[in-house]
Amino acid sequence: MFISSKARAIKPFIVMDVMARAEELERAGEDVIHLEVGEPDFETPEVIRQAALEAMQAGKTHYTHALGLIELREEICRYYHREYGVVITPERIMVTNGTSPGLLLLMMAVLEQGDEVIISNPHYACYPNFIRAAGGVPVEVRTLPEEGFQYRTEEIQRAISKRTRAILINSPSNPTGIVMEEKNFRDIAEFSQCWIISDEIYHGLVYEGRARSILEFTDRGFVINGFSKLFAMTGWRLGYVIFPEGFSEVMKNIHQNFAISANSFVQWAGVAALTKSWPDIEKMKATYNERRLYMIRRLKEIGFRLHHEPTGAFYVFADARNFCSDSFKEAFHIIDKVKVGVTPGIDFGSGGEGFLRFSYANSLENIARGLDRIEEYLLKRSRC
Ligand code: PMP
Repeated sequence: MFISSKARAIKPFIVMDVMARAEELERAGEDVIHLEVGEPDFETPEVIRQAALEAMQAGKTHYTHALGLIELREEICRYYHREYGVVITPERIMVTNGTSPGLLLLMMAVLEQGDEVIISNPHYACYPNFIRAAGGVPVEVRTLPEEGFQYRTEEIQRAISKRTRAILINSPSNPTGIVMEEKNFRDIAEFSQCWIISDEIYHGLVYEGRARSILEFTDRGFVINGFSKLFAMTGWRLGYVIFPEGFSEVMKNIHQNFAISANSFVQWAGVAALTKSWPDIEKMKATYNERRLYMIRRLKEIGFRLHHEPTGAFYVFADARNFCSDSFKEAFHIIDKVKVGVTPGIDFGSGGEGFLRFSYANSLENIARGLDRIEEYLLKRSRC
């Protein structure tokens, strides 16, 4: 059977292997605690669900404009204006079925075969695949735990070539939970020969200070964002791309051809999310923050090193190098011995080796039980 080399090159997430093992154990009756998950444990707020039902009942079941419902795009403009003081117009927004397809279509719009895109190492596991699928070449720049995994301008400079088309940034970051400093935005915006693609999907989930949007710093910025994380809407598949002026026509054509439009009633739910769900979001945020503080304290007590405390998303990327050099093996030991799912750092590139990603998208009670088990596991292990 012929399968293209492009398709074969796409590797699964390693965390999926951990999750498969977790499921196996659960089927065998074990009580597994999931600290590996990358999605909110909360239900989508009621006002959002209600809006989708109403839209369906009202017959909003047809294709929409290729760039998305004007009502939703206008709300996104207002949201970006309120949060970041930037003025964008609906023509600069394309609403997609999740952030992921938005990123793929955006890569198609900016990359020629062989064009390079700079990404950090560690990075969100899927980035290289998006770049390669659009004919591009990911170029990794190492970021260091001691520096809060912030990009170093000199390292970016070194990685820049004639083929560099874009620099990809992600703040708050998956896997590190770290929010990028303003200085970093300013420095990166100075690279005037390329686009800056900013993955802002964890915006809103920031517990100290605030996240900045790339649009505050340059008009060469692309934003990808979506409703999965902040609004607990992973299964709805709703995201968007904000692009510089001049891309409107091309993005419309791309989306018309490859997706036609995002789901119509889901887009109406998106309008409700941006206009009516803020009290629910505040509650979820306060709960995440409580869990974050607890998890940070416990992980440190147990013996993990946190060079910089994460202030965003719902992850803690803990340095386990004191007792582990192979994060893949360690994650499997942990799930097999004490039935706690964690994500191996190597899933996010070689720069993540020796780290484990803990998600606090789980109840405080489960987090406490999971960390108790890991503590016990490490105590026993150090005695061997
Ligand atoms: N970017 C990052 C950094 C993510 O963590 C995720 C989800 N895990 C996505 C993009 C994609 O999100 P979605 O397609 O659900 O909008």
